[in-house]
Amino acid sequence: MKIALDGPSGAGKSTVAKALAKRLGIIYVDTGALYRTIGLYVKRKGIDKEDKEGIISCLEEIDLNMEFKNSEQIITLNGEVVGDNIRTGEIAMYASKVSAIPEVRSFLLNTQRDIANKNSVVMDGRDIGTVILPDAEVKVFMIASPEARAERRYKELIAKGENCTLESVLADINLRDKNDSTRQTAPCVPADDAVIFDNSGYNVEQSVDRVIEIIKSKVEI
Ligand code: C5P
Repeated sequence: MKIALDGPSGAGKSTVAKALAKRLGIIYVDTGALYRTIGLYVKRKGIDKEDKEGIISCLEEIDLNMEFKNSEQIITLNGEVVGDNIRTGEIAMYASKVSAIPEVRSFLLNTQRDIANKNSVVMDGRDIGTVILPDAEVKVFMIASPEARAERRYKELIAKGENCTLESVLADINLRDKNDSTRQTAPCVPADDAVIFDNSGYNVEQSVDRVIEIIKSKVEI
């Protein structure tokens, strides 16, 4: 079974997808982590995030691997486990920039498809239902107001000890939304057959229950 969970940054996809995967006994694939890993490499190389040619030419130096141990996703970048190094606000901005480059998206395409061909997955991203897994049995497009999303992201970052303000997180979210939805390649838009779910007023448990309801309306679980 393939479940595509798309939507903008901070819509709660990863939290819901994780809980969902646990309930259904399937793998949760966080595709944003792949773009973040490319962003991390670009940053470490000192390549400007606007330097498309520079970014494209460094792809051939990248050996990226994604595997699962006890259902936990582990990404290695040239042999190094990236871990939380990709979970900063700065790397999120790099990810947002590199993800707009078609060559980067094609570079990561097979890694995502291979996992879904070998396992039952709930895959979270921006273009899973439209590009990566157009044949997914269930497609959910999760949205929430920018303010609700900024507040969640802000709490996450503060808990991790990052120095930020709610205003700066909201500004970043608005900027990433703009990058993601207006880019030429694989913009963050719902697939024609996706169910749109606005979870602004929902807590995690209610969101998971709603997504399970959507899944049940499409397939037998
Ligand atoms: O989901 P997350 O915030 O970790 O994603 C980081 C960035 O990677 C997003 O802002 C988006 O630009 C990009 N991304 C993407 N396609 C995906 C997943 C993430 O373009 N499938």
